[in-house]
Amino acid sequence: MTKLFIGSHLSASGGWNALLKRSHDEDGTTFAFFPRSPYGSVSKSLTPSGAAGFAARLMEEGYGPLVVHAPYVYNFAAKDPDKREFAIRALAEDIRLLALIKEAGQEVYLNIHPGSHVGQGAETGLRLIADGLNQVFDSTDGTDIMVLLETMAGKGTECGRTFEELATIMDGVEQAARIGVTIDTCHLLDGGYDLTGDYDGVMGELDRVIGLDNVKAIHVNDSQFGLNSHKDRHANIGDGQLGMPFFTRLVNDPVLSGLPMILETKEQTPSTHREEIALLRSLRRG
Ligand SMILES: [Zn+2]
Repeated sequence: MTKLFIGSHLSASGGWNALLKRSHDEDGTTFAFFPRSPYGSVSKSLTPSGAAGFAARLMEEGYGPLVVHAPYVYNFAAKDPDKREFAIRALAEDIRLLALIKEAGQEVYLNIHPGSHVGQGAETGLRLIADGLNQVFDSTDGTDIMVLLETMAGKGTECGRTFEELATIMDGVEQAARIGVTIDTCHLLDGGYDLTGDYDGVMGELDRVIGLDNVKAIHVNDSQFGLNSHKDRHANIGDGQLGMPFFTRLVNDPVLSGLPMILETKEQTPSTHREEIALLRSLRRG
């Protein structure tokens, strides 16, 4: 079996070297980070000039693809056109920064929450998201950073709870090679996909509706609440409703275990993520 690419969502404060140091501390082989402040202002420490050197170190050390997380404030399905404009402009800027890493040879994806339709209805929301992404891709022609739509728990008016909704967005994106999917294990269970009772059934549906080739990353989280709860409350690995049998299955899944796996679990102590990474690795057979 090949090795797992696994790590957590790390703080980017202090810049590229600080990120790498935090990843070494948890013994990771991939990681996530926000490319700018959570409220949307441009990062002063993630400098364009440092990006290529950062990529070179990751490649030297055999890192898997990074899964950068866009700030939560982006809403491509917002009612207010200014909010949509902001999301489009900021995502394009993020893509230009990450393109410097990818051009240096290190694979990096950009994960987004598709958006919340805020009462406009799912159909309108899904169309606005696809339209927004088309504008982002048009304004970043010549770069090939893939944007990953995250499977959502279905809290409030979130778009992207079902595989069908994600497929609808993907169908509306003109540059199909630049759009993929991240599955979040907590959100899937929360959103009504029975990963513990019918793992094969869920994976079959994922393949049929989205296509397993389009799934590029996994957010590996246990869930405090059960099937169909729409709560989006992550739990530490093994402490929630998914439990160890599920994670054992996941890290031994011949297809999914090859994807970068990102923990978004709570750090109960400074070594929580290091321990969870070691735990997941220990579940690998063979
Ligand atoms: Zn997320």
